[in-house]
Amino acid sequence: MVGIVVVSHSFGLAEGVAELARQMGGPDVRIETAGGLDLPDHPIGTDAVMVMEAVERAWSTEGVLVLMDLGSAVLSAEMALEMLPEEHRANILLCEGPLIEGAVAAAVTAKLGSSLEAVAAEARGGLASKLAHLGVGGAAAAAAAVEPTTASGEEASIQLVVENEHGLHARPAARLVQVASSHDAKVWVRNLTAGRGPADAHSVNAVATLGVRRGHRIEVAASGPQASQALEAVTALAARNFDEAAVAPSDAVAVPTMVRGANGELRGFPVSPGAAVGPARHLRATPLPLPRRDAGPPPDERSALDRAIGAARVDIAAQREAVERRAGTAEAGIFEAHLLFLQDDELIGPAREAIQQGATAEHAWTAATDRLTAAWEALDDEYLRARADDVRSVGQQVLAHLLGTPLAPPRPAGSGVLLARDLTPAETAGLDPDVVLGIVTAAGGPTSHTAVLARSLGIPAVVGVGAALLAVEEGTSVAVDGTSGEVTLAPSDEVATRLRAAERRRRAETDDARREGAQPATTVDGVMVEVSANVGAPEEIAQALANGADGVGLFRTEFLFMGRDRMPDEDEQAAVYTRAAEALEGRPLLLRTLDVGADKPLPFLAQPPEDNPFLGVRGIRLGLAMPAVLDPQLRAILRTAAAHPVRVMFPMVATVQELLDARAALDHARVEILAAGHAPPREDLAVGVMVEVPSAALTAATLAPFVDFFSIGTNDLTQYALAVDRGNGRVAGLADALHPAVLRLIGATCDAAAAADRWVGVCGELAGDTAATPLLLGLGVRELSMPSPAIGFVKRAVRATRVDEARALAARAMACPDAAAVRSLLADQA
Ligand code: PEP
Ligand code: MG
Repeated sequence: MVGIVVVSHSFGLAEGVAELARQMGGPDVRIETAGGLDLPDHPIGTDAVMVMEAVERAWSTEGVLVLMDLGSAVLSAEMALEMLPEEHRANILLCEGPLIEGAVAAAVTAKLGSSLEAVAAEARGGLASKLAHLGVGGAAAAAAAVEPTTASGEEASIQLVVENEHGLHARPAARLVQVASSHDAKVWVRNLTAGRGPADAHSVNAVATLGVRRGHRIEVAASGPQASQALEAVTALAARNFDEAAVAPSDAVAVPTMVRGANGELRGFPVSPGAAVGPARHLRATPLPLPRRDAGPPPDERSALDRAIGAARVDIAAQREAVERRAGTAEAGIFEAHLLFLQDDELIGPAREAIQQGATAEHAWTAATDRLTAAWEALDDEYLRARADDVRSVGQQVLAHLLGTPLAPPRPAGSGVLLARDLTPAETAGLDPDVVLGIVTAAGGPTSHTAVLARSLGIPAVVGVGAALLAVEEGTSVAVDGTSGEVTLAPSDEVATRLRAAERRRRAETDDARREGAQPATTVDGVMVEVSANVGAPEEIAQALANGADGVGLFRTEFLFMGRDRMPDEDEQAAVYTRAAEALEGRPLLLRTLDVGADKPLPFLAQPPEDNPFLGVRGIRLGLAMPAVLDPQLRAILRTAAAHPVRVMFPMVATVQELLDARAALDHARVEILAAGHAPPREDLAVGVMVEVPSAALTAATLAPFVDFFSIGTNDLTQYALAVDRGNGRVAGLADALHPAVLRLIGATCDAAAAADRWVGVCGELAGDTAATPLLLGLGVRELSMPSPAIGFVKRAVRATRVDEARALAARAMACPDAAAVRSLLADQA
């Protein structure tokens, strides 16, 4: 008897469906379930191994029918299939039928001893009685404005007008292919408006390269046993706008629609001052070099290619799950298209053919992806042309598996203005300011890590411009003004000249400020303020000192851990920290322990996905949960502190217990380095906490006895105080560190610190904002650490401040109703 497997994201749902089906089919029908995940905190999801085990339990020589709920259930089932012995695979059928009605129909049919095909056919038709009862089907066709045309012989066709904003681009094309492929029918598509086709509807590349734009009329023809069902399903899909939201899905989630100014220029958040004009550069997968070698026997080369494709599919499915969790299903949709590329005959067929002719797997694959990339690039439509990057990226992922080398980080193809959806911290940190003249991103807010790093690198940047940015063609001239937030495509000579002149003025001012930066910063009434640099690597320290840094007030050590596949060990870390300390020539070096999690994941740390990663295992929480990560770092820091003035601080502390645990780990590390024969740290080693969580600010008096200093991370403190995701451009307008709530938290920290005779610094982006300098000094802050280009300007602002007047200003600011009122108060004082 055919076995049945029910795969669902939910344990309860899978069990419930199985129970219902057993009731109909009888207790001896073999129904197994793979529902939910075995993770107490993340019960919802699917797992390929669980599916594989369920199939094994349901195994019978007559075959196994697998029914799945949505999304990753299908992928997990596909992956499970790949894991099962090859000889079993032919007898396992992943069925597109509806989960509940399908399982019930399948159980009834299986009980009759029917074949796998018959059971599957019944499962597929499981909705028929419901449709007939409710009289739907015709209604959907009418809504889609579909005009059925004559069906001759076995072939039938429909015509419809595509209304999607970008036509049948990768995502809707992928849906069409999925729907067409789920029927036992041959399906073709023609673009009647452009006179292209027919294209095989089982190939996303073939469909999407028909160049179907909004308003184009297409014909979908089908033949075979399920031709009419296939056309009905396509009709229903078209009625649903090919499953695209009416608003572009990415706009609905995290990326704002492109905002245009009065003269057609684009607007985003200005996050790093300065201006640049240059050709648009998108991030491109860095081509991996192909080794010279003789091809092995074609079957070996072919199975190497198949394995690499399988491995890349697993990676992409994992990326999709991660993005889906972070940003929603619509955002993750592009990965669906990537997965389809990897089962597309248009791509895989020529690669296999070349292998058969004697090519190595890597050469065959590269030639096939190059050919397809060129086909996409030759399309008229700008938006579709940009999809060539997707093919390129997927191609490189497979190649990396074939060659057994890690994927090189994507880079722009040449000097110019970098356009990207968003940049990971590792991508931003790896940018060369001599090549990247400016940055514009579709997503992100002012305190996203892209913004923070662009400021440190001194690259003019505008973020949160909107998704349509991605369709800007490579090489288009782009002018970016990181001070106003304006981005102009193909700027007139007048605009380009104006921006270049503004940039020259700004550089001259920066040079002036830099000259003044060399002197210490003392207020009018004689209070010394330490003005330091935020860095992510020892190489940045020379520039920090050139800007006048009194030391490093925040070394984001996580950049040493990012973009690599293994953790740096204790010796490597000690060498890097010592290099930084030496570059500082006796000035203080403040090392923050690893601050990862949330938007800074590490590939080699297996962290279960989190629904709210900014509220999850991040910062010190991760360090305490993973002593194998924190302990070697603490030992490396203490070894550096043996010969240099080092300060160490813990990120994202929320409770005194976390601080006590972190201090205990530090004490333990000290014992260990002494036992290993290293010198003890100097007496002046200072230990502090970052104040980034409101609870830490409000309980600073409780924390104070256990620290030497506090450093306020206004980026996160603002995020947590105002409940605004720092990476989400749509709420970026709310994320103003000058909000009185944030100022009161800073004030509370300073008051508690002063009572315990501890000093307070600020290392969030607010420290580099000269408008805030008097306010922060008035609140009691005595150390400011910032991207180094700001140092000269802030030192100038410190020298213009009287602390006694600043205290009164701070009191008035804290009493303001909102951030706008604080800003206008500060503007009045200027
Ligand atoms: C902050 O949160 O203000 C901070 C300095 O830390 P990061 O920006 O690295 O999270
Ligand atoms: Mg922070």
